[in-house]
Amino acid sequence: MDKIKMTIPLVEMDGDEMTRILWQMIKDELLIPFIDLKTEYYDLGLEERNRTNDQVTIDSANATKKYGVAVKCATITPNAARMTEYDLKEMWKSPNGTIRAMLDGTVFRAPIVVKGIEPNVKSWEKPITIARHAYGDVYKASEMKIPGAGKAELVYTAEDGTETRELIHNFTGAGVIQGQHNLDESIESFAHSCFKYALDTKQDLWFATKDTISKKYDHTFKDIFQEIFDKDYKEAFDAAGIEYFYTLIDDAVARVMKSKGGFIWACKNYDGDVMSDMISSAFGSLAMMTSVLVSPQGYYEYEAAHGTVQRHYYKHLKGEETSTNSVATIFAWTGALRKRGELDNNPQLSDFADKLEAACLKTIESGKMTKDLALITSIQNPTVLNSEGFIKAIREELEASLA
Ligand code: NAP
Ligand code: MG
Repeated sequence: MDKIKMTIPLVEMDGDEMTRILWQMIKDELLIPFIDLKTEYYDLGLEERNRTNDQVTIDSANATKKYGVAVKCATITPNAARMTEYDLKEMWKSPNGTIRAMLDGTVFRAPIVVKGIEPNVKSWEKPITIARHAYGDVYKASEMKIPGAGKAELVYTAEDGTETRELIHNFTGAGVIQGQHNLDESIESFAHSCFKYALDTKQDLWFATKDTISKKYDHTFKDIFQEIFDKDYKEAFDAAGIEYFYTLIDDAVARVMKSKGGFIWACKNYDGDVMSDMISSAFGSLAMMTSVLVSPQGYYEYEAAHGTVQRHYYKHLKGEETSTNSVATIFAWTGALRKRGELDNNPQLSDFADKLEAACLKTIESGKMTKDLALITSIQNPTVLNSEGFIKAIREELEASLA
């Protein structure tokens, strides 16, 4: 069989620990035998980030702007322990944070739904994708403890010196205050990313805040979404047969629990933080969760939602067998390959991505899986495979479907 050709390369961001091991196995077993794989390779492993003073991370983000599509392996975000473990020059920032800041994107996380791993919510038939705004609000707030009686105000001083004041509270005793902010520009790019992603994936988009209580702050989010939708996306949504709707956050939560799934739920920063953990655990496992950063300019960076699976890596280093689930990392590759296929008008490549994903699901549905899934599956007597065995089992399914 001829290998599938690629015209424009993917930006490949290699990473750390157990996921770095899986990365190579995935390429060797599931990609290179079938595709003339073209990538521009950046090693985001911690040693190389340290050697290049983190320039490699910046270069990889710039390459993503150039080529439009990247696939990223999980990476270590250094802490004190990693400083000594890797003898680091500096406590380098999280690569995900650096890349997100450069691409200015929104992160979309969706569970990979497979028969045998049932969601805890019985009505959910399709994945629910969380789109989390990743700037501002309580994550960039200033706070103050109020020791006793006194007046607290919000003060805005314009560049010409004019002041606008709003009373927070006339304290008669001790308490606390907090000042939050967000930027129209950031909310606008969040909105564009959400509308684009909904069109891309042909799913309805829900957005919810508490605008009845927060009549200026949350209401601004609601208004910006509505203005951008009416101006730039309404027609395309109608043509695609999908819907945008806004509701209150408490109503959204109630509806999510009764829904069948199959939509995107856009959340403010805090709501997204909380709700994405609820959605991922209710659907089964972090190892079955995809994550893609979509920039308002339409750049895409695909990755797994989990980390480098450090505990498994240390077992691997000791020569012990591991049973690490590679599905989310494989889906990062398929997401990127499918997108490359769409952008380059290369249906063979997109079709390969579909088949590889189907092969992963079929493998699990036939009872072959890694240990994390065997612990939660409803399939009787599953076969527990090691990291490599699982990837080889997927290859068998893939070859059968390509034959
Ligand atoms: P983690 O790598 O997500 O792993 C936490 C635990 O979850 C594992 O010990 C394992 O449980 C289970 N797990 C996660 N992924 C799995 C998989 N694919 N297959 C099977 N089990 C899986 O999180 P962490 O241990 O807290 O973080 C390790 C490193 O990853 C840290 O240095 C952190 O900075 C980094 N990190 C990177 C990213 C990213 O690049 N996007 C995200 C998060 C964390 P058992 O050990 O019980 O089997
Ligand atoms: Mg969280």
